[in-house]
Amino acid sequence: LVVLDKVNKHFGELHVLNDIDLTVARGEVIVVIGPSGSGKSTLCRAINRLETIDDGTITIDGQPLPQEGKALAHLRADVGMVFQAFNLFAHKTILENVTLGPIKVKKEPRKQAEQEAMALLERVGVANQAHKYPAQLSGGQQQRVAIARSLAMKPKVMLFDEPTSALDPEMINEVLDVMVALAREGMTMIVVTHEMGFARKAANRVVFMADGLIQEEAEPEEFFTNPQSERAKDFLSKIL
Ligand code: ATP
Ligand code: MG
Repeated sequence: LVVLDKVNKHFGELHVLNDIDLTVARGEVIVVIGPSGSGKSTLCRAINRLETIDDGTITIDGQPLPQEGKALAHLRADVGMVFQAFNLFAHKTILENVTLGPIKVKKEPRKQAEQEAMALLERVGVANQAHKYPAQLSGGQQQRVAIARSLAMKPKVMLFDEPTSALDPEMINEVLDVMVALAREGMTMIVVTHEMGFARKAANRVVFMADGLIQEEAEPEEFFTNPQSERAKDFLSKIL
C-alpha cells in the first residue's frame, strides 16, 4: 500500500533519509524506532508530503505522491497523521474538529459528517465531550480526538509520530488501546513510538532507524530479544 523506493532527503549537509526502501502492505502495522535525530519524523512527514524529498519515489496505493493542488489535498485525506502535540483547533469544539475535514475537503453534508463524527468519538471513548473545547479535555482525550479526526477522512493509512510521548503516564494506555484496536480492525499503520508494549501487541514489523538508514527490520519479538546490529543493541540497552 505504501512503497518507498530509494528515498533520499538532505537538510543541508545532513543526510536525514539515506536510500530508504520500505514497503508496507495493506493492513500491516509497522513500528519505527530509533535514536533522536535518526530521521523518523522526517520519514513520516515525507510520506504525508509535509516534507519534499530529494530523490527516490513514494507511492500510496499505486499512486506517486502528488506535488501540489487538489491531488495533494486528496493525498492528505488518504494519509492520516497524528503528531506528538495534539494539534486540535483550539477555537472549535471537539465535534467541529472532527467534522471540519469531511465537510470542507470531502464535501460531506453536515448531518452525515456529524453522525459519522459522533460514531468515531464513541469509538475512541470521548463522545460525551463532543461539545467541549480542546482545552477542556485531558491530553489523552485530546489525542484520542486527534485520532478520530484523522479517521473521519477515511484514510488508507495512518501515520503516528510519537503520539503518546507528550502524555502523562496514566494517559498513555488509553491512547495506545485505541491504536491497538485500530490495528486489529485492519488499519494500515506506520507508528513511530518507543512503547514496546504497543509494538509487541500490535506490530507486524519493527523498523529500526539510525543515522538516516534503516539498520534492521524484524518481527517485534525477534527484534527485542535478538537485535542484530550493534546500533540496535546499544539503543535497546538504553531504553529497555
Ligand atoms: P526524535 O526522536 O528526536 O523525534 P527523529 O528521528 O524524529 O528524532 P527527525 O525529526 O526526522 O528525527 O530529524 C532528523 C534530523 O534532521 C535531525 O538532526 C534534525 O535536527 C534534522 N531536521 C529535521 N527537520 C529539519 C529542518 N526542517 N531543517 C533542518 N534540519 C532538520
Ligand atoms: Mg521525531
